[in-house]
Amino acid sequence: MDTHDGAWSEIELTVTVKAYPAISTKHRETVCVAGIQEGLLGSASHIRLYPVPFRDLPFEVRFRKWDRVRVRVRRPRNDSRPESHSIDASTIELLGHLGPERNWQARRPVVDQLHRYSMCELQAAQKADGTSLGLVVPDEVLDFTVEDREEDEREEARRYLASQPTLFDDDKAGLPLVEAIPYYFRYRFRCADCAPGKSPHHMSIIDWEIHQAYRSWRDQYGADQVLERLRTKWLEEICAPDRDTMFFTGNMHQHPGSFLVLGCWWPPR
Ligand SMILES: [Zn+2]
Repeated sequence: MDTHDGAWSEIELTVTVKAYPAISTKHRETVCVAGIQEGLLGSASHIRLYPVPFRDLPFEVRFRKWDRVRVRVRRPRNDSRPESHSIDASTIELLGHLGPERNWQARRPVVDQLHRYSMCELQAAQKADGTSLGLVVPDEVLDFTVEDREEDEREEARRYLASQPTLFDDDKAGLPLVEAIPYYFRYRFRCADCAPGKSPHHMSIIDWEIHQAYRSWRDQYGADQVLERLRTKWLEEICAPDRDTMFFTGNMHQHPGSFLVLGCWWPPR
């Protein structure tokens, strides 16, 4: 068990992103969650909750994206990123849900309080003060790419699964394992501050939604159609000209200079 230095405090947040569970870590199948904590005077900041033992939570507090949540948090000793907090999962309370009705009207005032970064600007902020979460405006989305995961990474996941008796116990109990998805899904884009001649940003999309879509559409439409359907949704719909598309992004704990797309914010213009 890790020890922690921070003092507990109670916060309220709006959940904006849930990452697909990581299985090749020391934590048993846990989920990284990020959200927006509203402050005084119309300010708001990003907050990261990790780890969240999602499957161990009672069903009634398994929050969704855009839920309003109250929970006790503290700063972890082993993650110095300024936005990171560990949680006391037994204190989670759901306060309500911000739905998509009337062109996402309920969600806009919350997201509108956030600073909007260009990707290059966020990378500079990370170097300067450790900023590790940000809402990014992709000036021009060039492509949605799909690549096979490297064999060594899949092998690492297999080794990890083999070393975790609790996962197999769960499996026997009839709970589905989180599936190691065989692809990387990525956006290629230019931001407003990309230097001419510099290669575009190319960032993995790690949200729960795209991985769940992969699993359910593969079963529904078959392996030969699923990638095309993902491309249609994540490129043509989410990045359509009539959408004000932005990315919730965050960096990797062990590789602070590497950022990932944690989720999309794509309200109708
Ligand atoms: Zn850039």
